[in-house]
Amino acid sequence: MTGHKRPFDLAVVGGGALGLSCAWRAAAAGLSVVLLEERRFFHDDAGSGGAERQWRLQYSEEDLTRLVLASIPLWRELETASGRRLIHETGSLWFGEIAESTNEGHIADAAGVLEKCSIPYEWMGAAEIERRFGFRDLPVHYEGFHQPDGGVIDVKGTLFALYAQARAAGADLRDGSRVLAVEPDEEGVRIRVGEETVEAEKVVISAGAFTGELLQPLGLSLDVEIFEMATAYFRPRTAGTDFPSWFAFQKPAEADSNLFYGFGVSPWSPNSLIRVAPDFEVHPLRDARDAAGTPRVTDLERVAEWVGRHLPALEPEPLNPSSCLIALPADHDRGFYLGPLPGTGPAAERVIVCNAGWMFKFAPLFGEICGQLVATGRTEYDIARLTLG
Ligand SMILES: Cc1cc2nc3c(=O)[nH]c(=O)nc-3n(C[C@H](O)[C@H](O)[C@H](O)COP(=O)(O)OP(=O)(O)OC[C@H]3O[C@@H](n4cnc5c(N)ncnc54)[C@H](O)[C@@H]3O)c2cc1C
Repeated sequence: MTGHKRPFDLAVVGGGALGLSCAWRAAAAGLSVVLLEERRFFHDDAGSGGAERQWRLQYSEEDLTRLVLASIPLWRELETASGRRLIHETGSLWFGEIAESTNEGHIADAAGVLEKCSIPYEWMGAAEIERRFGFRDLPVHYEGFHQPDGGVIDVKGTLFALYAQARAAGADLRDGSRVLAVEPDEEGVRIRVGEETVEAEKVVISAGAFTGELLQPLGLSLDVEIFEMATAYFRPRTAGTDFPSWFAFQKPAEADSNLFYGFGVSPWSPNSLIRVAPDFEVHPLRDARDAAGTPRVTDLERVAEWVGRHLPALEPEPLNPSSCLIALPADHDRGFYLGPLPGTGPAAERVIVCNAGWMFKFAPLFGEICGQLVATGRTEYDIARLTLG
């Protein structure tokens, strides 16, 4: 049976951080919105799983730093509306090989952007990083900077807040609704959900690592790679141990990219475990649906080894291991994919994609941008780097 509902102004596919934000901003702007999520809301098996994300102002590209700055008023609005602090400014420490280009960026270039944007930071060498932040046995040539406004984002708090705001603004949020196909034409977009068809004027596809399977029938293939990244927690040896959010830029090892990052004690968490994780772009998945749902043992061994060598305040046994899916643009300089489908015709007029990259910190802003693109076809923000053309 085909059930034709009244058309919506906007259908959003995917109920992670970006989809929920898009539903919030579009509904708050007065559009009628339906959001379709395949699983249950707040599940941990896609890109918005887990408890914390890094909040940082620094990017190697000035336009991306300016987008982070532009997102701050929307984060504040979300915090005020939800009555909960979502960004905790514990500081952001970047250190290591200052000329190494990674999927996270480039230390020296990012410091240059901070300088240009008049954002404060403190440059330091390995000995000072060890003395002030509790690292040990860093190569003596390592350098880096501490930026005091960086920190950690409360992931679940953010998802709950986005969901609540989207609902309060009138969005129809449906879970257990897997979208099988998106079919744009001159009249609108038909969204196939099982036996049902949902009709909308426009659609935003923000299905994370699963976005490709909906774009392929529309003739578009994004140049992204999908990874299942490991993460783990470590027990402090003494009470009161804490760190800023940090990222270690290192030369690649033989088998992996040798990048590690971590956090302090999550300010909202009832326990004092501390998360440290590898950022390895290895073994890309052909299909996000092939994800194992568990971290690779070798990744956990590598992060435990790094903790044992460089973080003496932590016991080096990984606890609560998990994995998380991420789609990353093959071209690191691009950052993200955000904008309408390229070309002309119904698909280009009606389908907007919001996908790939380290996007959590941009969730409220990218939701706002999608809402603007849906409502007017334009956005006031500079997204030239991110568009799909
Ligand atoms: C380990 C790790 C660390 C990260 N660290 C950071 C960080 O420090 N800072 C930062 O800013 N970002 C970080 N990120 C990136 C950030 O978390 C993601 O970019 C962001 O959460 C993606 O949100 P999303 O809504 O686009 O996708 P997702 O959260 O993946 O949501 C997509 C949703 O679509 C649903 N879906 C899929 N297919 C369909 C379908 N056919 N029909 C209906 N629903 C569908 C899925 O079930 C899912 O709920 C990290 C990511 C990972 C994995």
